[in-house]
Amino acid sequence: MSSGSAIRGSRVGSSPMRPDERSEPAPRREVTYFCAAGHESQIWFALDAAAPETWDCPRCGQPAGLDGQNPPGRSRAEPYKSHLAYVKERRSDEDGAKILAEALEKLRQRRGR
Ligand SMILES: [Zn+2]
Repeated sequence: MSSGSAIRGSRVGSSPMRPDERSEPAPRREVTYFCAAGHESQIWFALDAAAPETWDCPRCGQPAGLDGQNPPGRSRAEPYKSHLAYVKERRSDEDGAKILAEALEKLRQRRGR
């Protein structure tokens, strides 16, 4: 058994530098995330930190991604079923088509006008 060597290195990590001695803010960059609900959220990251592929949308809490054309979240539950296929499953094709047409019409009215 040796004695006296166990204390070495005990101060490692306790640097005396105080935060206000380097008051320069870390360089940051802005990353835009898109959620399935159409929200765009600007999140700031440190320049040297990798932005995660998904980020919870601050407005609705859904996962948001970097690709505005293809936001995550929609494919979470039924990745292989489109909405139309889902509707068709419960109704006749005719009803499904009608519902789809109505939905498209609503979408058009909301976007264009
Ligand atoms: Zn959102």
